[in-house]
Amino acid sequence: MDTFCPEKQTCPVCGSSFHCQIHAYYGRRIIDFICGVPVTTEVTVLRLACQSCGHTHAVLPDLIIPYSSYSLFFILRVLAEAFLHISSLERLCERFCITRNQLYRWKQLFQQHKREWLGILEDSETSGMDFLLMLAIKPDYSSFAMDFTKQTAYSFLQSHRNPSG
Ligand SMILES: [Zn+2]
Repeated sequence: MDTFCPEKQTCPVCGSSFHCQIHAYYGRRIIDFICGVPVTTEVTVLRLACQSCGHTHAVLPDLIIPYSSYSLFFILRVLAEAFLHISSLERLCERFCITRNQLYRWKQLFQQHKREWLGILEDSETSGMDFLLMLAIKPDYSSFAMDFTKQTAYSFLQSHRNPSG
């Protein structure tokens, strides 16, 4: 975020560049996994206003998934442990304070986005854990996140569509 330059952002609504200005900062609560326990923390999110069309939009750091109260890291950690069968499902859900249903939904979403990103053929040859490791060793997660959003029109592991218009 240090090199972030609001003036150079492209407006996601009207697509015009060089018209965004800082509108506001706000605190966003997010559940992260720190030192082995789920922790609710507050992250500062920058909101930009487009001078061209008047819409405002949030600039979310990579660890925030739109509409998700859980951080990206939290979800990837849960999935990694689930894929590796480190403990029983009951134990896993208990430790992360999540329901089985939540875990199931994340798994589904992950598999779905993995398939969309890799394509059917490569997807069938790549396990969930392999894909997680691919993401983990990427030197620049941001560029993957941006490419993914460009390709699918939503963020990686985002479960709800962006409101249109
Ligand atoms: Zn605009």
